[in-house]
Amino acid sequence: MSDHLLEVRDLSVDFSTREGTVQAVRGLSLDLAPRETVGIVGESGSGKSTVALAILGLLPRNATVSGSVRSGDTELTGLPERALAKVRGSTIAYIPQDPLTSLNPAYTIGWQVAEAIWAKGLDSKRGAHRRALELLETVGIPRAAQQMDRYPHEFSGGMRQRVAIAIAMANNPRIMIADEPTTALDVTIQAQVLDALRAAREETHASLILITHDLGIVAGMADRVMVMYAGKPVETAPTDEVFYRSRMPYTLGLLGSLPRLDDERRGPLRPIPGTPPSLLTLPSGCPFRPRCPVAFDRCVTEEPGLDPAGPDHRAACHLRTELEAGDTTLFAASWEDTTDQVGGDEVGIHGRSRSEVPHG
Ligand code: ATP
Ligand code: MG
Repeated sequence: MSDHLLEVRDLSVDFSTREGTVQAVRGLSLDLAPRETVGIVGESGSGKSTVALAILGLLPRNATVSGSVRSGDTELTGLPERALAKVRGSTIAYIPQDPLTSLNPAYTIGWQVAEAIWAKGLDSKRGAHRRALELLETVGIPRAAQQMDRYPHEFSGGMRQRVAIAIAMANNPRIMIADEPTTALDVTIQAQVLDALRAAREETHASLILITHDLGIVAGMADRVMVMYAGKPVETAPTDEVFYRSRMPYTLGLLGSLPRLDDERRGPLRPIPGTPPSLLTLPSGCPFRPRCPVAFDRCVTEEPGLDPAGPDHRAACHLRTELEAGDTTLFAASWEDTTDQVGGDEVGIHGRSRSEVPHG
């Protein structure tokens, strides 16, 4: 057995639809060590949620999965639903984007947290109630004792998200998977929910897979980052390595769209010009090529593999070695060019100029 709590190997997920086959995830491998937090980052449609649902065994019927997802000695792909439900109730907890869909409107939040504790069969009813109160306090529900008797619809989005985190904790999981837990929330509330997630991580000692499209969130939470594009990981590295020594033009674009953390208004993200390819008909070569300011002929014919690009660092770019040389000045000029070509309101990928993007 390995040291990893979770080992994903060459995971692929296709969805069959009326229009054809959507290649949502294409060959993804991921290791999660005890107490490690991995951030999965990418634009909408890059396959992040599909990865989470594949690990949890919650994919819809039109999905075809290949590859392997192992937790300890257990291979999770192909496991019957009953066994998967058991894994979800013990080893792996899921924190969905919108807890309104997972919380039951008919029961008080105190009941729902306590129920998750009884379900494990470890506590008396009174013990479970007491533990539920503790958990709600841990995730920062103010006046938790009174609030326990209220119903989900009486809570704000941020408070509901904390309840979902408390329920995840109730199972005393070894792994938590949070899928965009703060996306729908405003910045102040986001920070509070992230604090709740940190508290949950501290108390359970669980590892965390944190899915987000916001690199700013990953910076403060994750040990490692996996950047996804068009269903594939295109860069994986320790968080600092990604921020200071990215070897992948797409990641550099995302970094440019980082909202300034000192900017109160924190306006909308500035998108990378262009859109991701359709996963029904992927172009030949590198899927980022049509949007990439440094693409050259090889990128048209050959999709780059996720290859070594530094210590504990992999990147899917034919130019990763050139980028490793730290020559971001040339690169900077190219981004400006692309921006000019695209024109319009999408004033480029850079909230700040390229030269300000940290490089090591
Ligand atoms: P977002 O940031 O918007 O949540 P995501 O990175 O989580 O995006 P996924 O939801 O994993 O992306 O979707 C990946 C691709 O798979 C998308 O093209 C999506 O349209 C497609 N997809 C997801 N679920 C299904 C489904 N049940 N049937 C068909 N296609 C699907
Ligand atoms: Mg998603």
